[in-house]
Amino acid sequence: MTEFVHARTCHICEANCGVLMTVRDGEVVSVKGNPDHVLSEGFICPKATAIPDLQNDPDRLRRPVKRTGEVWEEISWERAFREIAERLYEVKAGPKVPAIFLGNPNAHNYASNFYMRGFLKAWGNKGVYSATTLDQVPHMIAQKWVYGHNAMYPVPDIDRSQMIVIVGGNPMASNGSIWTVPNFKKRIQRMQERGGKLVVVDPRRTETAKIADEHHFVRPGTDTSFFLGVLKSLKNQNLIKPGRLEDMLANWPEFVARLDSFDLQSLSDHCGIDVAAIDALAAELGNGQPAVMYGRMGVSVVRYGTLNQYLIQMINVATGNVDREGGTMFPAALFDPVERSGTGSYGRYHTRLKGSPEVLGELPAAELAAEITTPGEGQIGALVTMAGNPVLSAPGGQHIGKALETLDLMVSIDMYITETTCHADYILPPCGPLQKEHYNLFFAPLSVRNVACFSEALFPKEEHELDDWEILHGLTSAIRVLNNDTAPPKIEPRLMLDEIMKSSPEGVSLKDVAAHENGYDMGPLKPRLPERLKTEHGKIECMPDMVMPDLDEFEESLASTSCDDFLLIGRRHVRSNNSWLHNSHRLIKGPDRCTLMIHPDSADALGLTDGAMARVSNDVGEVELAAEITDEMMPGVVSIPHGYGHGKKGVKLSIAKERPGVSVNDLTDPSIIDKLSGNAVLNGVPVKIECA
Ligand code: SF4
Repeated sequence: MTEFVHARTCHICEANCGVLMTVRDGEVVSVKGNPDHVLSEGFICPKATAIPDLQNDPDRLRRPVKRTGEVWEEISWERAFREIAERLYEVKAGPKVPAIFLGNPNAHNYASNFYMRGFLKAWGNKGVYSATTLDQVPHMIAQKWVYGHNAMYPVPDIDRSQMIVIVGGNPMASNGSIWTVPNFKKRIQRMQERGGKLVVVDPRRTETAKIADEHHFVRPGTDTSFFLGVLKSLKNQNLIKPGRLEDMLANWPEFVARLDSFDLQSLSDHCGIDVAAIDALAAELGNGQPAVMYGRMGVSVVRYGTLNQYLIQMINVATGNVDREGGTMFPAALFDPVERSGTGSYGRYHTRLKGSPEVLGELPAAELAAEITTPGEGQIGALVTMAGNPVLSAPGGQHIGKALETLDLMVSIDMYITETTCHADYILPPCGPLQKEHYNLFFAPLSVRNVACFSEALFPKEEHELDDWEILHGLTSAIRVLNNDTAPPKIEPRLMLDEIMKSSPEGVSLKDVAAHENGYDMGPLKPRLPERLKTEHGKIECMPDMVMPDLDEFEESLASTSCDDFLLIGRRHVRSNNSWLHNSHRLIKGPDRCTLMIHPDSADALGLTDGAMARVSNDVGEVELAAEITDEMMPGVVSIPHGYGHGKKGVKLSIAKERPGVSVNDLTDPSIIDKLSGNAVLNGVPVKIECA
């Protein structure tokens, strides 16, 4: 019997926790948190224990497959690459264009990112439709306009903060999003023990709200009023004090003056949080202590998502809490996306039909179906999806499924036959997760401590297996050779990573970092402004031209917002991660989680009883699911978790299909977006509810 312990970083979500895997005779027999890990301190969530399930899942594809009708045939890599290149050539010879959709797991794959640019060039698309545009792009735009670069993420410095206000985020389930904060609960407990305070603003009393010192219900989609209310209250109470930031601000007096036209009572009426509560919150945020306003998914996936993210920055500026210990800070990572890409990008080109802007080369997923089905120059005819499932994750998902069937060529780089990849002509599966190296490429720049974490692959690949980066290299080579070009060199990604690390200010090698299996620690976050600002004037821009029309439009809309329908919001459970972890028995066991959460008063009015089936409908679609009556919900608001809907025809996820649930995105409308970013509107969706 052989037995050893393998230390690695969990690749499943942004938290990047350190795990210890005991391996006996070639099998992982236990997964535990690494108590010495510099970032996660021994914490893991249940999802980490399912990593071996992903590795061993019999439903996971092991070889490339080609679809004819409903039949999947295993084929060789050489044949797959050659046929795809030939069919792409035919599409490109016609009037249609190729495109690509990237799912969230790509952000967790450092190696494939090094091969992505070459692949995109060979595939020939302009812009990438991505999961980023389903929830994150408003942050990236606000950061570009305010700090000068899309990737300048200010993260709450939780370990030194005295007050954190979380709006539309649930780190108890996520352990941080656009904020790598593993062991969130312990970190909050430590803040509370030193006299600090957690406040949650959310239409649901979430798991995070339950450990908070204070929770306020807010009407979905009205967070803009809350943020403006806090700013207005700070001004009313003479608490606008940027402190050290004062010399770094551009157009600050103009911004403060712009608040004059807003009335605090009207803002309060709109969002449903009373004036006294807003005043009290503002007084605490503005009393000089290290404090943070943080808003995430719930405030991004709404009509004014970008405006919201901008206003959050302004609140943190107004209270002097940007670039401050215990406020928001800019992490320093060995791979620095800011220094590597000039000033980032916004609007270099736009989508064909709606004219939505690219952001760092990414285009709105909400527009994908229409771009496939609407004839004309630029119509999408060939699509690659990579670790993405837009049929479940993008608005109007059922229409995306139908659109995919009309493509001339669809290729999926994916482990499974999912609701999306079942429409592909070819599926190219990468090796299992434990056969890959891991590096926190995009999450070190979001972490609450400056760290670098590299993990070796645990198991070797079989001869017929390829890593994602090798698939991209194989496809790129086949396409280029067919076009009489040369195949690109095949360089091990770890060599490229080593070069990046050596050229960083830290000047370490990959060998140095890999030797620290508990994480390479570069210490707590440090102030980095004004040197790091990338705006043209080198200051924090407080009145970006582009955002002001939305502020005006929002102000006008305040007079006319009323809705008799229920408002639908999403939710996330700690045992779930978007759509791709439902094929692990140990994660889906227990009570059914795909339920319609509804307040008792709302349920009573409808005659709906707990566990009874409810029909939820609007102009986009209709779903039926069991009601879960709970006072966690704000009256008039209902919630369905995202990532379910595995009962669709053609899906080969045997465990997920046992409890398929319904897709909340069969109700979300792709025609309603945040205008500044093109980000999908997934929250505050009007729906009707009846007993089914
Ligand atoms: S929170 Fe869970 S899924 Fe995320 S990295 Fe940590 S253990 Fe993995």
